[in-house]
Amino acid sequence: MKFSDTGLSDEVLRAVTDAGYVEPTPIQSQAIPVVLMGRDILGCAQTGTGKTASFTLPMIDILAAGKAKARMPRTLILEPTRELAAQVAENFNVYGKHHKLSMALLIGGVSMADQIAVIDRGPDVLIATPGRLMDLFDRGRLLLNDVKILVIDEADRMLDMGFIPDVERIVSLVPKLRQTLFFSATMPPEIRRLADAFLMNPKEISVAPPASIAETVIEGLLMVSHRDGKRPGGGQKEKRAALRSLIEKEGVKNALIFCNRKRDVSVLCRSLTRHGYNASQLHGDMQQSARMEVLENFKADKITFLVCSDVAARGLDIPNMSHVFNFDVPTHPEDYIHRIGRTGRAGKEGRALTLATAEDGKHLAGIAQLTGRQIPPLELGGVKGAEPQSARPQSAEPQSARPKEAPKRRGREGERPKPEPVPEKPDNAPVVGMGKHTPAFMLRPGKK
Ligand code: AMP
Repeated sequence: MKFSDTGLSDEVLRAVTDAGYVEPTPIQSQAIPVVLMGRDILGCAQTGTGKTASFTLPMIDILAAGKAKARMPRTLILEPTRELAAQVAENFNVYGKHHKLSMALLIGGVSMADQIAVIDRGPDVLIATPGRLMDLFDRGRLLLNDVKILVIDEADRMLDMGFIPDVERIVSLVPKLRQTLFFSATMPPEIRRLADAFLMNPKEISVAPPASIAETVIEGLLMVSHRDGKRPGGGQKEKRAALRSLIEKEGVKNALIFCNRKRDVSVLCRSLTRHGYNASQLHGDMQQSARMEVLENFKADKITFLVCSDVAARGLDIPNMSHVFNFDVPTHPEDYIHRIGRTGRAGKEGRALTLATAEDGKHLAGIAQLTGRQIPPLELGGVKGAEPQSARPQSAEPQSARPKEAPKRRGREGERPKPEPVPEKPDNAPVVGMGKHTPAFMLRPGKK
């Protein structure tokens, strides 16, 4: 099928051509005609499949036919994270460039006053995270009774992040007579139940996840042994020692180091800094302005190691990144692909190395199932994970990876380095990841 066969207007087709898309992805060719017909959709698809355009493109044409009223948006798109919401907003701007539609991006961490001003002007579409949306609604700044199209995106992530009660409340506030587009990467029973409650006679569309890994990415897996018993998340201290040894062996120019939990991001960043590495951190609890500063410094090569969570690192596009380290094996296999896709870009070779313990078998199997192959074991003479602290870098260290002066910490306010803390148990839910480009809002100066 061609884009011109989907029923989209000439203006939207032009924007699609301008974006460089030649043909619709499977979710787009199946969903776009159905959305244009006004029917509900239950889409089983994840990021990377082109699902954002599958709902934004037809929505633009539907919206072009009407006019928004102040504080009464006609369409509402719910996203689980700020980064995803910002990314959808950017897509909306790209695909809607030949239309005069207005949009409000309602996410936490940025000025509410600015958001209220946009709502008052009557945006055609609201793109929101559930928390900020409910906040604005409860303050009486927003009416939801004119919403004609509701998009619930990444429903399984909403579930993981505890947003379902908010989503249920939001659904109870929008008109019963509406079009609902519901997307989820997976369909566990809870999500099915929600879909049944929210959708009317939906067209079900299921597409395969994007599981390709660029040939320029060289993978490796280092098994780390430890004595923490079988509890998940064990062996952190040994993994930190193994990571340092790997870094020294590899000659890292710059690297993203992924942890599954925000708390571990901070612990690992502190540990690397204390061991003399030029490291900084990026996670979802940081102020927008701090995230922006870290990203700019990393892109400008002022930071060598960026320890990050999936959500915060979503969309990072650094053309010459030499390495990605998975300090933790991701619990969602698709996150493995997103993470390692940060390196090996633009035809350049990159290395993607994963640390794992015996307890990670289930997640490694999930990754192997998704990619169709096992991660090759690393042959590293002498690096066995539980290496003593004395393995810290001496003189033979690669120049590029070592700081020239004592690095400045860029952690959250009030955080102070402590002696090698080992997290006892994970204190927050695993963060999940996705995506390829840097949302523009992360590069704009922060608001007070
Ligand atoms: P998504 O799954 O919506 O996060 O999209 C993943 C990536 O695919 C984004 O970078 C889109 O710009 C890109 N994309 C979406 N649709 C197409 C298409 N039809 N052809 C090529 N790239 C696309």
